Amino acid sequence: MPASSIQSYFSSSSPTKSFPGDGFTSEELQVSSPTTEWVPVLDYEESEIASLEPGPRCLTIMGRIVNVYDTPKPSKRPKAAQGFFKLMIADDTGVMTVRLWYATPLYALKLGQLVTLWTVHISQGDGQIGLAPNAAPLFTSIFPENERNCHFMIHERSDDGTMFKRPFGANDSQVWPGLMTLRNFTDGGFDVDDCKLLVCVKSIGPRKKFTNKNGNTSESMTAVILDDTSEGILTLYGSVSGSASAWKPYDTVLLISNPGWRIDKSAKLSLNGNTQLFIDPAIADARYLRALSQRLIKREHVNPPFPHDVFDAEEAGGAAVKVLYKLSEIDEFARTNPTEKAVGYMSVIITQLNIVVNYKREMLMSNECCGKPIFSSKVKTSCRQCDRECMLRINPRILGDVIDETGAIGTGKLIFSDAAWEQLLGRTAEQLVSAPLDVMKYLEQRLLFLRLTLGFGIHLGNEEIGRLVVWCVKM
Ligand SMILES: [Zn+2]
Repeated sequence: MPASSIQSYFSSSSPTKSFPGDGFTSEELQVSSPTTEWVPVLDYEESEIASLEPGPRCLTIMGRIVNVYDTPKPSKRPKAAQGFFKLMIADDTGVMTVRLWYATPLYALKLGQLVTLWTVHISQGDGQIGLAPNAAPLFTSIFPENERNCHFMIHERSDDGTMFKRPFGANDSQVWPGLMTLRNFTDGGFDVDDCKLLVCVKSIGPRKKFTNKNGNTSESMTAVILDDTSEGILTLYGSVSGSASAWKPYDTVLLISNPGWRIDKSAKLSLNGNTQLFIDPAIADARYLRALSQRLIKREHVNPPFPHDVFDAEEAGGAAVKVLYKLSEIDEFARTNPTEKAVGYMSVIITQLNIVVNYKREMLMSNECCGKPIFSSKVKTSCRQCDRECMLRINPRILGDVIDETGAIGTGKLIFSDAAWEQLLGRTAEQLVSAPLDVMKYLEQRLLFLRLTLGFGIHLGNEEIGRLVVWCVKM
């Protein structure tokens, strides 16, 4: 069957040399009038991507963006199209290409966004990569600012992150053809047709501006990625680089099929016209990889947050029976009941305090952002990677060994809640960092070898927390 073209549908159009195959004449690439509210006048049929066929038909299609590439085609004519985004959209049944023309920069497109489009024609790519890549040969060209029967919508508030999270072909009970580890990819797997990598984001670098070979300024962003075999690098170029701002280190899992690549010591990946990138796909292997990565972060995090979802200080404090445990008993409990949760009290003394020294080293407060530790003697600071403002918490390493008659807890091993820190230090974090040096010295002397009662919690179930948390301090 000959490939249908959009020209056969638009009776007034004739192909132009500048945009072969897209079917828009230069007149049609003019904006008629900007519309704020779009009201469809035709009847559109909801369609899954797998059931699309080339030809004219009023369709509405929903999916997630798995590839996006901005192709500016600046025109001096007023109201003319200034370029198009080439998108790949995936639902649970397949992937298609969308050429989304624009005159004004209306769309802030990101990978992973849930979108709906209304179109009146589907075309078949002829293997020409410019129109539609082999991975998603069916395409539609729309210019919503000009064509009142076409529309494009990004779901932002209405996306609860559940729809179209399962890439077509995924199967939890069988090995997915083409799925390989970073190490296998580096060792030659990049040659395999339809190769797929499942990786977790380890850290996210800053967005950088650079000048490309055409002399235009562009942006790029580099993320370190990992799986259980190796680490690699993923670089996003152009407007798509903003997609990484919502990714979380040691949490966001990416499924990348047919990446662009360069192999140095490790794999250096990028997006090309055939690449599809799924964010947090709902497949068993992704859950496994995220759990694995989170075990790494638990070991490495310089200041783990207090797990308020596991321990409720109010509930623990209101318990009818208050039991005082020795450190040796807590240790034994953890060994014999590894999945149970317990709260209680311990009576301890602090053998060393390092408030002044950490203050002088600009390390009184700490946290992590973009997978990297941040230290400062202020309550907030901006992350050097992403530039976002980061709230810091008191560095647990200001406490040296905490002991009782039966055992010791090493430096920095206790996870205090903000309330517990305030009870221990008699001031908020903000008041601590702004206190004069002699007040800090006085605090150290006052707390040293003082008998304290700590309300503690322990929960080793599902490997979430292997450390003792402190939800209250009584002097
Ligand atoms: Zn950051």
